[in-house]
Formats: sequence, structure tokens, C-alpha cells
Amino acid sequence: SPAFDVAALREQFPLLCAQPALVYLDNAATTHKPRAVLDAERRFYETSNANVHRSVHRLAHAATDAFENARSTIARFLNAHDAREIVFTRGTTEAINLVAQSWGRSQLHAGDEIILTMLEHHANIVPWQMLAAERGLTLRVVELQPDGSLDLAQFRQLMGSRTRLLAVTALSNAIGTRPPLREMIDTAHRHGARVLVDAAQAMAHDIIDVQDLDADFLVFSGHKVFGPTGIGALWARGDLLAGMPPWQGGGEMIERVSFSGTTYQAPPYRFEAGTPPMAQAVGLAAALDWLGALDRPALAAYEDMLRATLEHGLAALPGVRVVGTAPGKGPLVSAAFEQAHPFDVAQFLDARDIAVRVGTHCAQPLMETLQLPGTLRISLCAYNTVTEVEALLSALADTLEWLQ
Ligand code: PMP
Repeated sequence: SPAFDVAALREQFPLLCAQPALVYLDNAATTHKPRAVLDAERRFYETSNANVHRSVHRLAHAATDAFENARSTIARFLNAHDAREIVFTRGTTEAINLVAQSWGRSQLHAGDEIILTMLEHHANIVPWQMLAAERGLTLRVVELQPDGSLDLAQFRQLMGSRTRLLAVTALSNAIGTRPPLREMIDTAHRHGARVLVDAAQAMAHDIIDVQDLDADFLVFSGHKVFGPTGIGALWARGDLLAGMPPWQGGGEMIERVSFSGTTYQAPPYRFEAGTPPMAQAVGLAAALDWLGALDRPALAAYEDMLRATLEHGLAALPGVRVVGTAPGKGPLVSAAFEQAHPFDVAQFLDARDIAVRVGTHCAQPLMETLQLPGTLRISLCAYNTVTEVEALLSALADTLEWLQ
């Protein structure tokens, strides 16, 4: 596609330049980092490194400015109403645990219900199970249609007067389904329930606008959106954050501490105990600036072209089935094999320096429902090429011929 210059884009990724033979198709696990991100982290350490929010000296101000500017960049990228609606976390997992342990523990009571979907990653299941066990809550699960989309009629039946939360992924990391978020959020809100959106996979591909979505909580990880590891964020509506008690205690999050009692800072600081990942926050902001400067509609069309090319090629291979065929899928394709184990296939591909993911993708309930031991997952992103998709297809054809 002339609108999208992938060759120029690849040149911005040092790892891809250093390893030209590598075909990296495991982007749902983690993405590589453009030079802009690596430079931003290095620049922070070289010019602004000090602890934030603590000291009066010049360098501490520079660090605090860099950190708070990063927060503002993330807020702008998500179209949040206010930067104070952004809480830095270690990633998606910590952000969901924060919502469960703070909002959930203070707001949910025995008999209340949480709706999850069959598509959820373990990170959007287990924190709710832990809370449910502690509080006597009931978890309900939206089932799948045969094509891997959600059963919306069954979802509407699950909604009731005890439903307090819908926690749903924006893009399945296992089979690529994009649930109809707007419709589900509207339905949940009509029943007075809150909605948490797991945008871990969607961030690198979709334009996320939290005001337009009208969700209540949205979470993501930096490392899956071209940013550093160890950083992610929770966006939450300001009025909800204001009513949430702290979760972890320590420095930075307090207003005043005494042995007779402690008062807490306003959000977001109340939820950021201890020294935060400062350089990582700066790196994440650089990643979002980098992504935001791309032609996003052209990128989306390009990624969808790659996905369609891949699915078309897989359909021509004997004994291969694409798992999840819902319309509007993300650029992520799961494959099952009639006569080969996906682990064997992945090992053959690795011998050709083709990186894919194999297994249950932290979505064991989903794999059980699909009655699969696991799948081979090919996950694409902005820097992948048709040449890489063709290399994968050709290696897969050879591998299956050998194994079958
Ligand atoms: N949710 C989804 C949809 C994911 O794909 C992942 C990562 N595989 C997570 C949550 C967890 O993200 P992290 O491990 O970065 O906290």
C-alpha cells in the first residue's frame, strides 16, 4: 500500500535492522521498540534523572515535569477528559488488580454479579475470581458463537439487577475477535453496571477514545504498544477514581502520615505508592507519540490486508483451520492443525527464524470451550510485511508436509 511505507517504518526498529532474517510474528506477546522510544528513555536518564515529586532541586523538577508530561501525553492519546484520570501501573495485569482491589473491594457486596466473557485473558479473570471468593460475588460468562464472536443475546440475558460490572477485552489475544464494545457498554450502563475494557491488544491497532467509548475503566500495557516493559496505565472516570480507596500503601501516595492516622493524596497519586517507573513512563509517552504520528486509518487498512493475506494463504493449506472467523477481527490469527501438534509446528518454524506463539495464550477457559489443546498464533503489527507472511506460509506448507 503506497499510503503506508513499511520499509521506512522498519528502519526505525534497531532489533529488526540488526536481525534482518528474523520473521517476528509474536507481536501480541510483546512488540519491538522504535528508536524514538529507546532514545526517550536514554535521554531521561542522561538529562533528567532524579526522583519525582520529592525534592525541591532543579533536576527533581525536570524529572517531575517529564513524568507528568508523559501522563498528559497518555491522557491526550486516549482522549481522556483530564490527565488526573491516568494512573501509572506496571501494566494491564496490575491495573486490573488495582480496580478489583480498590473499586471492587469497596463497592461490591455478597450476591453482586460480575460479567466476564469467554474471550478474556487470565489477567481479566483471576483478579475477579479472587475478589469473588473474598466477597461472595458471582461471576457470569458471556459465551461464544461458533465463529468466535460473543453471544450477545445470552449477554443481554445475563444482565440483571445484581450486575455491577462488565469486564471485557477490546481485542482477543487468543483468536482476534473484537467484541462490539459500544453496544455492550450501552447495555451494561442501562442496567447500572460499570464497564472495564481490557485494551492490552487493541492499543497497537485501534484508535481508543475513552470518551467516545463511554467506558468506566480502561487498561493497557506499554510493552504491547511499542513502549517499554514495566509500565502501563489505568484510565478511570474522574468521579470513580475520586471515590476509590488506596490499594498499595507507601511513599508518594500520602498527604500526611502519623501513627495516629494517615491521609491520602488525591487521584492519581493516591494509587501510585513508591517511586514510579519514571523512564518507562517517558518511553511509553514516546511510543504513543510515535504511533499517533502514523496515518492510523492507513495503518489499520495495511494490517487488515496482512491478516487477509495470511488467512487466505492458510485456507489453501491442507489440514489447517483458522480458529475464530468473526467479522472485523484484529490482525491476529490462530490456527489449529488436523494432523500436527502446534508445538511441533512452532519448533520447525523457529528453526527458520520465524517467531510465533503456541499454547493456550493465557486463555485456558477459551481453549477448553473450543476443545483445543492450544493453537499456533500469528500476531501482526505495523512493521510486518507481505514478504514475512509469505515466508511463514511457505515454511508452514513445508512443515506440514514433513509432519503429516
Ligand atoms: N489482557 C490481554 C488481552 C493481553 O493480551 C495481555 C497480555 N498477553 C494481558 C491482558 C496482560 O498484560 P500484561 O502481562 O502486560 O500485564
